[in-house]
Amino acid sequence: MTNINILPIELPDGYEYMYESFNETNGSVKFHAGFRVNILSHEEALKWIDAFEESAHVKLKKPLGRASAIIINSSRFIFKGKWVCQHAHNFASGEPQANLHGRPKQKKCIDCPMHITLKILRQTYWTIKVHKEIQKFPHSVDLNFDHNHSYFSARSLSHNSVSEEAKESLSRLFRNGMGVRESYNAHRKAIVQIHKECKDAHSRCSIEAVLADASICPTERQVRYMFAKFTEEIFGAHNGTKMWEHIDTYVKEYNVRNSEQGGCIKYRPPVKSGNEFVIALSSPLMTRVRKMYNENAAMIFVDSTGSVDSHECVVTLFVIATNCGALPVGITIAGGKYSLTTVWPEITQLLCLFHILQAVWRYLFSIESGIGKENRQAIFQKSKLCVYGEECDAEIAKHNLLNMQEMSAPATTYFSQLWKVSKEWILYHRSKLDYCGHNTNNYCEIIVRTFKEGVMHRVRAVCLGQLLINLTQDHDGFFSNPLFDTSHWRCVLTWYYL
Ligand SMILES: [Zn+2]
Repeated sequence: MTNINILPIELPDGYEYMYESFNETNGSVKFHAGFRVNILSHEEALKWIDAFEESAHVKLKKPLGRASAIIINSSRFIFKGKWVCQHAHNFASGEPQANLHGRPKQKKCIDCPMHITLKILRQTYWTIKVHKEIQKFPHSVDLNFDHNHSYFSARSLSHNSVSEEAKESLSRLFRNGMGVRESYNAHRKAIVQIHKECKDAHSRCSIEAVLADASICPTERQVRYMFAKFTEEIFGAHNGTKMWEHIDTYVKEYNVRNSEQGGCIKYRPPVKSGNEFVIALSSPLMTRVRKMYNENAAMIFVDSTGSVDSHECVVTLFVIATNCGALPVGITIAGGKYSLTTVWPEITQLLCLFHILQAVWRYLFSIESGIGKENRQAIFQKSKLCVYGEECDAEIAKHNLLNMQEMSAPATTYFSQLWKVSKEWILYHRSKLDYCGHNTNNYCEIIVRTFKEGVMHRVRAVCLGQLLINLTQDHDGFFSNPLFDTSHWRCVLTWYYL
């Protein structure tokens, strides 16, 4: 009786089988079978057991203790090995444990008795005499297929250990800057695509079975665990002294590696019991931009952004306007605020005219302004005249604004305060400056947007270590695009880089 599968499960293709025994335990898929296969070496036997896991939809593991040993080339066996179902062995003793919601915890070890033993006997006078056709079928299999659970169910498949292929594919997605949910979805999508094209061995199963199998498509919890391990390894600890130790090492390495090209990072860690720190960095690209566009660097656009990492750091981008669009000249990461004039006392600060008017408009809409909704527009129109008026007009406009009947007491205080820094936002004060008509901060706004999309991929960095890596490694690659586009005679998209 060879090559006719009498078992209710599939055996690996490409081998010849000779059955010795087959007993059905209770008319279900539970059975005991003994058969022999035309396998001669232990390497082939190990390949067969991998193929068996795939074809019979079971996940096996080595049993505990002495039984786990694989015997190769002993006096009696060329090869001997035993495997048990992944649900064998009950490690958890006592009562089943409950989770926080009172439901029993999902347990992987439920004492499943299923096991399989593979043997290749040495061919001696006696074995040849006792075992029929041992020369052709030397490899014997003793299979006890008596799971105490449904062996091909979503629940059982969810316990499968994550395969190396899945681990590799997911860590590739992590390296590309994806978060947990994103990489989980991308990995699933790729599996569905491969299954559709039927190029994979898994395509024998339905797509539902493939997606339920945690070895191919890990659960979100498994992905989260892998992500945490990955980030810890690559980006260092997520907080505390260890994080700063990692940053210190990274900064030192970076400075050594990039000093020739002009890359440099300097930082001040938080003092004891304080949370304020600042990191200033200039990548090789930024240093080159400052050098090559020396004249353009007279006017620097500055904007800060938050929500880029889990510590809520403030990332401030310093940008200049060039013929290739906006290019970055420096970046700071800060935990807390710092004043530009303290660092550079000789600079002239100008405010963005769009943002100043936006701030006024928002204030007028707020409850604390005490301005009725019917008066908001009139007051806003007057404050707009202050911003854009000529020298003589602006004074009149200010007088008109502050003496308006509709004005409330808090709004008067607000505008008086605003007037103290009027040199920064009234247009005619700029007439003597060589500022090339840049009245808004749009260059920087665009850079912040493209930075969040192109460098951060709209995902928060898990820790400061990752943020620093993104800003020093991915950043230069991304912002060299407009320079390449210009040098390749490709039109720089004005709406994109402005
Ligand atoms: Zn089992």
